[in-house]
Amino acid sequence: MAVPGSDQLGLYISIPFCRSKCTYCNFASGVFPAHEHARYVQRLIAEMRQARTWSESLGAHLPEAVDTIYLGGGTPSLLESEFVDQLFHAIRTEFSLSPESEITVECAPGQLSDDTLAAFVRAGVNRISLGVQSFIDSEARQSGRLHTRQIVLNDLVRLRSAGIRNLNLDLIAGLPGQTFASWVESVSTLISTGVPHASVYMLEVDDESRLGRELLSGGARYHADVVPTDDTIARMYEYAIEAFNDAGLVQYEISNFARSGHESSHNLRYWQRRPYLGLGLDASSMLRESTSLAESDESAYVLRSTTADDLNGYIAGSQPSETAWLSPDRQHEEAWFLGLRLNEGVSIAALRREFGHHRLARSLEIVTRLAARGLLTSAGPVVRLTPQGRLLSNDVFQEFLEQAGAEHASAAR
Ligand code: SF4
Repeated sequence: MAVPGSDQLGLYISIPFCRSKCTYCNFASGVFPAHEHARYVQRLIAEMRQARTWSESLGAHLPEAVDTIYLGGGTPSLLESEFVDQLFHAIRTEFSLSPESEITVECAPGQLSDDTLAAFVRAGVNRISLGVQSFIDSEARQSGRLHTRQIVLNDLVRLRSAGIRNLNLDLIAGLPGQTFASWVESVSTLISTGVPHASVYMLEVDDESRLGRELLSGGARYHADVVPTDDTIARMYEYAIEAFNDAGLVQYEISNFARSGHESSHNLRYWQRRPYLGLGLDASSMLRESTSLAESDESAYVLRSTTADDLNGYIAGSQPSETAWLSPDRQHEEAWFLGLRLNEGVSIAALRREFGHHRLARSLEIVTRLAARGLLTSAGPVVRLTPQGRLLSNDVFQEFLEQAGAEHASAAR
């Protein structure tokens, strides 16, 4: 049996340039001189041209047909139009792009020139994601964002006039200075724009961002002292789910909401474990083993690869990517924690077919335990997170990871 969804590829292209660094940002992005853009795009194109040789040398299948492209970052809208043209010319030369492809670009409000927008339209870009984070100007400013509410609204008019109507706006719950009342205002402003897709992220606290470090160690320089409490952030998230749902933006993933038919096809492929090739700084790929395409059985493996996160090392090609084949046990674990992110849940029958009865039986014991704690429901053939499980999703996913850890340990003995 052929592995479902293995014949179409998603392309992720990382553009790590930003005009300023947001205080909460933990991505591999930075403020680099504009003259790096040319070198970077040349390196991206070279990496794209080498991708087939690279995948063949590893025994991985790289589909030729591409049906989703995602330019993320960073701030891809900072690319000059000539580089957008070069990049898409290379994509169309190396891959076969379906006319119905979803092509998304992440943009920072107020940081998309008319020339670059025209190049996106020429290239076939049909979906734009704007990193708004908050419609309250003081909150955006305190987090290092350079836009205002009015700039976002103006950008939406420009994008729609250019024919791009498939629009996503991102919000973050938990920004410094945010209150429940200001969150309600951001959510209702987003709804009033009529966009068909919204994403809501809860502020991440880790030592990879300046704000995260300050939250862990104390201080007020990045306004960690006025970050809302965890309880308030949870209430903000629950409020957004309800308000978006009432407005027809239905939750389909922990952080994502869409009108019917506007779900992000590219992001769905991550959660559905369909193949993608990541190009650029700190990008990841997931490809299936060539030999596993004919026979989908317990011996099928997938390849995961992540490129370096140092810009000069990447441009020079001197930093190799980290590459590993995932065993069926690891894939089974991923199938749970990626699949549970989706509101449609995880199909028991599909997992049994792919991973066998024995592996699944062990996971179903975890499901029973988590259902007793009110974090999962397992009505009939599908397992889903409950609303409480969505709030505590990291705890749920950890249970599946711990099972895999215990299995690896016992296999090693
Ligand atoms: S624009 Fe995005 S990638 Fe750039 S610093 Fe801000 S959050 Fe990070």
